[in-house]
Amino acid sequence: MNVLRHPNEWSKPIGTTVGFVPTMGALHEGHLSLMRAARAECGHVVVSIFVNPTQFGPNEDFQRYPRNEQRDLELCGEVGVDTVFAPDVETMYPRRTTVVAVRGVTERWEGAFRPGHFDGVTTVVAKLFHIVQPDLAYFGLKDLQQCAVIRRMVEDLNFPVRLRFCETVREPDGLAMSSRNQYLSPEERRRAALLYRRLRECRDEAAAGGSLAASLDRARIALEADGFAVDYVAWVDPVTMEPTDRLQPHCRLIAAVRLGGVRLIDNLGLDTA
Ligand code: AMP
Repeated sequence: MNVLRHPNEWSKPIGTTVGFVPTMGALHEGHLSLMRAARAECGHVVVSIFVNPTQFGPNEDFQRYPRNEQRDLELCGEVGVDTVFAPDVETMYPRRTTVVAVRGVTERWEGAFRPGHFDGVTTVVAKLFHIVQPDLAYFGLKDLQQCAVIRRMVEDLNFPVRLRFCETVREPDGLAMSSRNQYLSPEERRRAALLYRRLRECRDEAAAGGSLAASLDRARIALEADGFAVDYVAWVDPVTMEPTDRLQPHCRLIAAVRLGGVRLIDNLGLDTA
């Protein structure tokens, strides 16, 4: 496995498909599922490991975000990754003069609660796409709005890449895997699984023909009773990220909650297990 620190060290292999999985490291099974999907479909798999400062707000956890490059490289090796691109911040951002910004689909939900976050995401993903030139790129549906934003960027800017969105990998109790789960205390960690349970209840209620608005009201009340501070819970169209009051097969139920100092996001489709 090659470990590259600078864009100049990469030249795209000819005659094979390049699959790309961007990550911020602290790898878990969710990340590894994307790498395995890329491994199954592509001749050459590239993973980036880069904790991207521009997608963190001033009061967010950039400094304390978990970093363990040695272990990450071992895990990449175990799933058969060919190339890891792990640049430092200076290499990626010698200046911060150019920003790639997607409008519309970024405005609600995470965009509203984390101002500037998506500009950081689209800027770094645009840079990484230009550097790696992947044929396919893999993202997790756990970050549903991020998928919608990247899809829009790729369409609007004609990036020659096909996107693959992969279902969320969960802990046995249903909590969506996340590098930030490490911040939860043991008691918070136990409670965190209730987010998935409440979303399932809400989803099942709506799927059984109940009103979407009523299902959301009940979910919010249940989450607050469980001790979460609810940033949002909503039914959305996953392409536009606009709220919907009519349940269609592709609609998804999204939520963001806070538990102590930790922010959790999750979402379910009608057929998500
Ligand atoms: P991150 O390192 O958090 O930036 O995540 C890198 C990629 O892994 C993103 O496309 C995420 O959506 C995806 N990802 C994170 N957690 C999970 C999960 N539990 N299941 C599937 N994909 C995930």
